Amino acid sequence: MTQPVPREDPHDPSTWPTGRAVVIEPLVRRVLGPNPSPYTFTGTQTYVVGTGRDVLVIDPGPNESGPADTGVQGHADTRGDGHVAAILAAVGSARIAAITCTHTHRDHSPASRALQAATGAPIIGCAALALDDDGPRADAAFDHDYRPDRVLEHGETLAGDGWTITAVATPGHTSNHLCYALGESGALFTGDHVMGWSTSVVSPPDGDMAAYLQSLALLQDREDRVYYPAHGPQIDNPRQFVRGMIGHRRQRERQIVTLLDNANESAPLTIPDLVAAMYKGLDPRLHGAAGRSVLAHLIDLQRQGRVSGPESATLGQSWLAQSWTLAPGGARA
Ligand SMILES: [Zn+2]
Repeated sequence: MTQPVPREDPHDPSTWPTGRAVVIEPLVRRVLGPNPSPYTFTGTQTYVVGTGRDVLVIDPGPNESGPADTGVQGHADTRGDGHVAAILAAVGSARIAAITCTHTHRDHSPASRALQAATGAPIIGCAALALDDDGPRADAAFDHDYRPDRVLEHGETLAGDGWTITAVATPGHTSNHLCYALGESGALFTGDHVMGWSTSVVSPPDGDMAAYLQSLALLQDREDRVYYPAHGPQIDNPRQFVRGMIGHRRQRERQIVTLLDNANESAPLTIPDLVAAMYKGLDPRLHGAAGRSVLAHLIDLQRQGRVSGPESATLGQSWLAQSWTLAPGGARA
């Protein structure tokens, strides 16, 4: 008896094959990377856009042979063994017009080098990051070797045989994050800005909650038909989904303000106190990432003068021990 071929459910990534191109709409194929983890869900989703003489590759994925990291800030970066070969198989005899990345976390951009070495294709898209201070453990999360041949600014387009892509600047998850809009179909490749399986980690200092909320508002003003994120299922109701995400972040902000308001003044709260109260039932492996998002909210609230905390709140090694209080009048939004 032969094994039945498992049915692929377009809304359930756990049914998707790793390393095989799946047509998700006439111009777009998806290749799931071999790097599942608590941070990447079932793995990084690489997209190949176009079916003609040339194609675009979005988010080629993690390093082919780099060390398997776990539990780093924002993302895990497990090995990408075989993923570049899977992308090349999907591309076939077409030319790669550009290798493009939504941002430079290590589960997205490192394979751009291997793909460039194999094909000579240019790397065009998000900027490289130049950070003085990445925050704790961020050296494992950021791809410092990323070198774009050309950076796309907000609104710039890139066109090939039958496809046109426009860059949409969406800082917040990282400062260099871009989404890409496919003009021919109304699809938006959302990277880690908006994902179908989880909220994004916003980890200071590069992650910025105020910028993130502005970038969500930017998407709400657009009329995209569908989102294809780098992790998790596609999103068929973009505006409603983004409205829900903005509401979720506002609710988190209110939770933080209420918890600080209720705390005894002689016992100010630390980020682990807040995480314990706000994220009941969360996978403990994600507590660090949740703490970074709480910190991002606190920094945003501190800039608004609504909470008081450490002078330079980003952070160093002591960010978990630092205590936070509500500023006078801070409970009023
Ligand atoms: Zn990311």
